[in-house]
Amino acid sequence: MLDADHFRRWMTATAASVDREAERLTALDSPIGDADHGSNLRRGFRAVTAALEKEAPDTPGAVLVLAGRQLISTVGGASGPLYGTLLRRTGKALGDAAEVSEEQFTQALRTGVDAVMQLGGAAPGDKTMIDALVPAVDALDAGLGFGAAATAAEQGAEATTPLQARKGRASYLGERSIGHQDPGATSAALLVAGLAEAGAGTGADPV
Ligand code: ADP
Ligand code: MG
Repeated sequence: MLDADHFRRWMTATAASVDREAERLTALDSPIGDADHGSNLRRGFRAVTAALEKEAPDTPGAVLVLAGRQLISTVGGASGPLYGTLLRRTGKALGDAAEVSEEQFTQALRTGVDAVMQLGGAAPGDKTMIDALVPAVDALDAGLGFGAAATAAEQGAEATTPLQARKGRASYLGERSIGHQDPGATSAALLVAGLAEAGAGTGADPV
């Protein structure tokens, strides 16, 4: 079973990797965007960890709803509302249970990913964060675990390189968006990797 601590570790592990990788995310957002993705997300996840420390929510759902709210109010850009919706909707779907099973979490995450697709109108193959998130949920649905989900998300992010963007800022470039890995899919892979780190125990274990 997964408790509030697990979800807190998920958020702090993600905040740490976003911090480490912020420059890379911004560099990816430079040729096909406006070079702000890393700084946007870093600001957002710093706000998430600060809010979690201050308010100490005690259920999985409350941790994710609080995190999502912070992302919506601090990240800005396209990705803020989308990531915020992902975490908020996933958290709401978890309700107020003190612990949730991996299966319940997978279902809730599916609800969250569906909400992102509805809000942004992106489908798999449009070269967005969806291309990392959907394979991750599919891996969890197949019972493969957090590590396999992280690998699936990473592969999904890498597979965005040859795609032409059909949503977001990168889509303005048309065919010129081809040949670059999508920054949002890359950060989504970090988010899923954080889940695997949280599952590993302390969130600080070397992989
Ligand atoms: P902005 O494009 O407003 O500067 P960011 O740079 O923070 O926002 O985030 C860009 C990322 O957001 C993209 O790489 C893409 O993965 C994701 N994104 C943009 N639009 C959409 C959308 N409609 N649906 C899903 N993801 C999207
Ligand atoms: Mg940008």
